[in-house]
Amino acid sequence: VPQHAIACPFCGLVCDDLVLEGERVETHGCAKGAAGFARRPLHLEHRVGGRAAPLDEAVAAAAKLLAAARLPLVSGLAADLAGIRALIALADRLGAVIDRWQSAAQQVNLGLLQQTGGLTTTFGEIANRADVALLIGGDPGRRQPRFFERLLRNRTALYRSAPPFVAFIGPGDAAPADAAVGERVTVAPEALLDAVSALAASATGGRLAPATALPLSALSALGERLAAARYGVVVWDIAAFPAAARSPALAILLRLLRHLTRRTRCAGLALGGEDNAQGAAQAMLWQAGWPGRLSFATGVPQHDPWSNDAERLVAAGEVDALLWAASLSAAPLPKAGVPTVALIAADAPETAAEVEIRVGIPGIDHGGTMLRADTVVALPVAATRPSGLPSVASVAQAILAHLPEAS
Ligand code: SF4
Repeated sequence: VPQHAIACPFCGLVCDDLVLEGERVETHGCAKGAAGFARRPLHLEHRVGGRAAPLDEAVAAAAKLLAAARLPLVSGLAADLAGIRALIALADRLGAVIDRWQSAAQQVNLGLLQQTGGLTTTFGEIANRADVALLIGGDPGRRQPRFFERLLRNRTALYRSAPPFVAFIGPGDAAPADAAVGERVTVAPEALLDAVSALAASATGGRLAPATALPLSALSALGERLAAARYGVVVWDIAAFPAAARSPALAILLRLLRHLTRRTRCAGLALGGEDNAQGAAQAMLWQAGWPGRLSFATGVPQHDPWSNDAERLVAAGEVDALLWAASLSAAPLPKAGVPTVALIAADAPETAAEVEIRVGIPGIDHGGTMLRADTVVALPVAATRPSGLPSVASVAQAILAHLPEAS
């Protein structure tokens, strides 16, 4: 049976060393990847008003529903790049708001980077150069199961001769169990901002204010170790911080990276990127100038991180139709309480959407392109088990074609 190297779309690492042999995919021990490739279609019928309908009828009904809305919301966006681009074009034509669901943490990372700039690293740099890695807030391995194997325990590295020193700072229940982690400093979420301040003060030669709730000597030692690294990396999970602490904590970390890079190298990486979240952000940036929370309601793209927040718009009842697109995950459709068109994978549960269109999964039913979570490379994923299910891109383009001509 011929073997083919393929990439995996089921987390932000987009590992490109998987092997397809017939219909079997070798995921190198990754259970998440194996579960992804084992997904099987459970519902193949498209539905309009709760009854089965051919694709053409469902597309026409979706176009009619969306065209009748005053302010539609396009969300979900768990799709390959072609799907996201087609959804952006559709949002533009509809005068809709477009935003990923639960994009708050990603918006903190992108907003701060936009305001202050930042020194970010790549998976390749971590795997080949990092000699000290600090993981702050969360365990990368929970969302990206091969993170440690591929980036920190990799046997062949181009520019380092020994494995990096790896430490974790964060809540005890989020501490990584991976053997690569040499030190775990337990800090409760509500104290994480202070811990980051103490770490930065120590790394930059500042004085630490006494704080009884913090493990100061351990934080101080980690700060000094980061400052002494040849190529240090800081990997943070901004969602681990309380909402009000996210921006201040990130501002401190970005300042720390800038400070250390004046005389050595130190760079950061924000955890995330599942369901092609970075692809969605970057495609919006390329197409419309901002990486999310966009409104086309005035005829030109406008970014407002508060008013164009998908969850806020739904909670406030400010949108009157929803186009939900989630082909990569079988995540449940949010209860929006407005007429809904759902483009969902064939293994997602049935919904109460007025129009439900079953779409293929990129990397299984059809090929596509995924942006890796470090945003430096877009990787092709193959049709490992091709089916006749339409892609998000083809359905969004078909809905667009059914809309009345723009006046
Ligand atoms: S780590 Fe992520 S990309 Fe790699 S095989 Fe596992 S699920 Fe797929």
